[in-house]
Amino acid sequence: MLDTDNSLRNAFFKNLKASKDHCWAPGGNCNSVPIRAHSIQDKRVLDVLCLNDHVIMPQLRFDGKDGAPIVEFKKVGRKDATIFKGLCATHDNEIFSPIEDFEVELDNPQQLFLFGYRATVKRFHEMVSEATRLQKMYESLVEFGRASHQPGDSAMDLVMQSLMRTWILHQYKAVYDEAYLAKRYDILSHEKFSFRHHKPTVAVSSLYWLEILIPERNQIPWIALNVIPSKNETHVVFSYLTEDAKFLSPETQAILNSSLKRRLWLLSEKIVGFTDNFVLSPAFWNSLSHKRRDTFFEYYRATLTNKKSFEGDLRDICLFEPLNEI
Ligand SMILES: [Zn+2]
Repeated sequence: MLDTDNSLRNAFFKNLKASKDHCWAPGGNCNSVPIRAHSIQDKRVLDVLCLNDHVIMPQLRFDGKDGAPIVEFKKVGRKDATIFKGLCATHDNEIFSPIEDFEVELDNPQQLFLFGYRATVKRFHEMVSEATRLQKMYESLVEFGRASHQPGDSAMDLVMQSLMRTWILHQYKAVYDEAYLAKRYDILSHEKFSFRHHKPTVAVSSLYWLEILIPERNQIPWIALNVIPSKNETHVVFSYLTEDAKFLSPETQAILNSSLKRRLWLLSEKIVGFTDNFVLSPAFWNSLSHKRRDTFFEYYRATLTNKKSFEGDLRDICLFEPLNEI
């Protein structure tokens, strides 16, 4: 199913720089300009999380002194939250209208497929942007004699790793593209649950991977996580290729087979530690104690650098407020 032809891979690398602002619709031949589109449903999901048209999102900045990342959970205007520029207006609307304009139905295979697809397209777009940014930085370093084209150069290694990850995801996205065009929504397996809450607290649309190589396909197991709150309940959906089930089912079952209380702790840990696209409701964030907020900062930062350095209590990062006492 996946392409292993090196000439295609080389052409992809060569064209990457030119394709940063590109519509990534299936088929690969759309030349329209990509728009700023929400990756989390605006009309209903952001709507229930917003306070005065703002949500809370993690933001990173790098401290000038030692380069250590500083994490802040900051207010973001609704129109800027979860935005990405990976599709033109026509394709964004045509592809994602079933999950943007309609109520969520957890037994609707097309909707579940599209939640996973949108997380994949967004992640791919971000990896292309990151790879082109690193390439540009590397070229500047070479120009100033701070890096070289010699094998073993650490800046070059970083660029090559980034390009390779982007290529691997490009191949994975091609599987989604093909399935979308053929309406083969059944290529995915989903693990899901819902619970009623006191108030909506968090929404997620993200694609992450497990550090396992699938040698026969030169792939890694990717998993999409969507957390979709409505006014009274929260839906949680993990989605992955059915052919990857043997790698990913243990990952999701470890969470789903726990009590609701433990399940929501584990899920929160996964969201803060592994995903890159989540928004919090200001009403929830503002209600947290300083100690709990500090734990969020510390855990988020530890997952970016050295997870083992985290010494806080993971129960403090629970992102949910279920209705029933658990
Ligand atoms: Zn397009």
